[in-house]
Amino acid sequence: MKKRLMIIGAGGVGTVVVKKSARMDDVYEAILLASRTKSKCDAIAQDAGPVPIETASVDADDVQALVTLMNRFKPDLVINVALPYQDLTIMDACLECGVDYIDTANYEPKDKAEFEYSYQWAYQEKFKKAGLTAILGSGFDPGVTNVFTSYIAKHYLDEIHYLDIVDCNAGDHGKSFATNFNPEINIREITQEGKFWEDGQWKTTEPLEIHQSVEYPRVGPKESYLLFHEELESLVKHYPTIKRARFWMTFSQQYITHLQVLENVGMTSIKPITYQGMEIQPLQFLKAVLPEPSSLGEHYQGQTSIGCQIRGLKQGEEHSYFIFNNCSHQKAYQDTKSQAVSFTTGVPAAITGRLLALGTWKQSGIWNMEQLDPDPFMQLLPQLGLVWEIVADGLL
Ligand code: NDP
Repeated sequence: MKKRLMIIGAGGVGTVVVKKSARMDDVYEAILLASRTKSKCDAIAQDAGPVPIETASVDADDVQALVTLMNRFKPDLVINVALPYQDLTIMDACLECGVDYIDTANYEPKDKAEFEYSYQWAYQEKFKKAGLTAILGSGFDPGVTNVFTSYIAKHYLDEIHYLDIVDCNAGDHGKSFATNFNPEINIREITQEGKFWEDGQWKTTEPLEIHQSVEYPRVGPKESYLLFHEELESLVKHYPTIKRARFWMTFSQQYITHLQVLENVGMTSIKPITYQGMEIQPLQFLKAVLPEPSSLGEHYQGQTSIGCQIRGLKQGEEHSYFIFNNCSHQKAYQDTKSQAVSFTTGVPAAITGRLLALGTWKQSGIWNMEQLDPDPFMQLLPQLGLVWEIVADGLL
């Protein structure tokens, strides 16, 4: 029987999830795209199909508003691509209405830049008892990077010892400063302390303190900065043999200079200030003046390159693998009118939706991506536009 899919969030990632899912008329009979601003939903729905798409305005911070909408549309599953602040309210509404749940970023309280799964893992018993599935972090990183790791663990290594996730955007959008996904979430992530896993404990660094040149396939060497990224938390939990796990991301000198200035003048702060009698958060104000990530696509050149460098043991011998995807901004735009950062996030979320709707990944409880069978997901990735490659025993 075909399923009913509700997608929440009509931003850059939402655009890709809608366009890809709407082509799955073998799986879905109807899609509801709901977001804060209905006109954005209508614009996306306009050139997506063949699955029929309804649109609606909803405040996803409001559980009751979500429940009312779900009771009307009766979705089988929800893909949440609004902001991480809405994860828990959407999960609550899913529990109340008996709907499966997928997201691409872990819950963050608005007043604290905190990246951890504890808030959502705490829903484990509730989802199990309700016989519902929740799949967390199903974008690229987290998401594909988790599946890349589990794929290597399943097919290539007995034990994983070292994991380095490397994320490069070698694209150029022609603006002097813009973020590739929601600016508020992006800047909160980058301006926090760095953190990595080593010898059974988390080690912290100053923001962007540790950096080194990393060689990216078909891109070349790029300065890459050690950040904390949420998939590290679930991966070291689910692969306890990991001795060291780190996450690296490239930033241009121009991006860092802009960010430093904005930080120095207080524009990246999440502490509310009073301005002309109104309480505003500087970072939210900054978001309002920066380009929307979904507007960057048309003139974006170059490509992204994201992968996992993994070293470990197979039958007592050490081996290393580099598993990665390169994605062209222009190709992503031709396919979905979105740049590659939205594309590489939206495609995996749409695949996860498909695997859940088909029952392949349906099992009660809360799951991180590496806990599910990687094979059907890895098979679909190239079919939906994300070709992956493995380099064996030749670390970059
Ligand atoms: P955008 O800011 O482009 O889009 C977010 C959308 O959510 C907007 O349409 C916004 O509405 C809507 N929204 C925000 N708050 C509410 C609310 N209270 N109720 C209803 N709708 C709301 O962000 P992106 O598309 O770039 O990112 C979407 C998600 O994907 C984020 O959670 C981000 O962290 C995650 N992400 C994950 C990645 C991964 O690899 N795992 C990579 C990149 C992003 P409005 O248009 O009215 O503002």
